[in-house]
Amino acid sequence: MSQRLFCATLLSLLLIALIVGTAGAPSARAQSAPRATVALAGQWLRQGQAGVVTVRGEGIADVRALFQGRLYHFYPEGSRYVALLSAEVATEVKDLPLQVMVRYTDGASEQIEHMVPINWGNYARGTVMLPGALLPLLDPEVNNSEDTKMANIVGRFTPARYWTGGFIQPNPGDIVGYFGATRLYNDSYWYTHSGLDTAMPEGTPVTAAANGRVILSEALPIRGTYVLIDHGWGVYSGYAHLTQRLVVPGQWVHQGDVIGLSGNTGRSTGPHLHWEVAVGGVWVDPQAFLELGLTLDAAS
Ligand SMILES: [Zn+2]
Repeated sequence: MSQRLFCATLLSLLLIALIVGTAGAPSARAQSAPRATVALAGQWLRQGQAGVVTVRGEGIADVRALFQGRLYHFYPEGSRYVALLSAEVATEVKDLPLQVMVRYTDGASEQIEHMVPINWGNYARGTVMLPGALLPLLDPEVNNSEDTKMANIVGRFTPARYWTGGFIQPNPGDIVGYFGATRLYNDSYWYTHSGLDTAMPEGTPVTAAANGRVILSEALPIRGTYVLIDHGWGVYSGYAHLTQRLVVPGQWVHQGDVIGLSGNTGRSTGPHLHWEVAVGGVWVDPQAFLELGLTLDAAS
C-alpha cells in the first residue's frame, strides 16, 4: 500500500469514526429522526383548557417540556410518558412550540419541538355589580396578592397521581357563571372568571372532585372560605365561597368526601359554589377538564 493510499484510507476511517461517534454522542439531536414520538390528544388545545401529551420511545429515563415559559413534568404511565399541558385563557390563537426534552437511560438526550395549535376559547363577557361592602375586594392589590399566593401553590408538581378514573363535578346544579368569562365589575374593573359557578342553598355539603390531599383550607379575601386539593401531576381543584371548611391541610380525601359546606363568603353576591381546576399552574375550564380523565385512562 502506497503512503498516499494509506493516508486516504486512514482519513476515511477517521471520518467514519467521527460520524459514528457523533451519532452515538449524548448530545445527538435534530438531524437524525428523533428516538421518541410526541402526540397531543385531540391535535389542538383551546384557550383555557388542558390537554394530554404523550411521549413514547425506547429507553426513556425522563421527559420534561417547556410551553409558554412554563415547565411541564411528564410521568410514566404504562408504556408511555404523559403530561397534562395547559393554555391560559389569554393565550394567542396560533401554533405555539412545545419543546419536549427527553433523556434516555443510555445517557443520550434529545429535544423535540412539537407545534401545538391553540384554538379560540369563545368565552363570554358579563357585568357584575357588587354592593358597597364588597367594593374593597375590587382593589387590584387585593386581587394581585391572592392571585400570586394561588399561583405559587398551583404551579407546583406533585410527582404522584392521587386520582384514579376521572374527576366528578362537585354538586352538579344550575350553572350561574361559566369559566373564562371576562367580567366588568361595577363599571370599573375587569377580571376573568377562574372557575365554574353553580347555584346551591347555603350549607349544602360540597364534595371532593377526586382523590387528593388538602393543601389549603383557609379564608381568602376573594375566594372567601376556601379549600384547595392537590390531586398530583400538577392538578388542583378549589372550592370557594364556603360557609364552613371540614378538612385541614395535609388531610387525604377521597372522591365524594364532604370537604365543606357551601356559602356566600368572599367576593360573592349570592349562595353558590365556585369550583376551579388548575393544571400546570393555569386555571382551566373545569367542564372540559372533566372529560380528560376518561382520555387519560384509555388504553395505553
Ligand atoms: Zn366563580
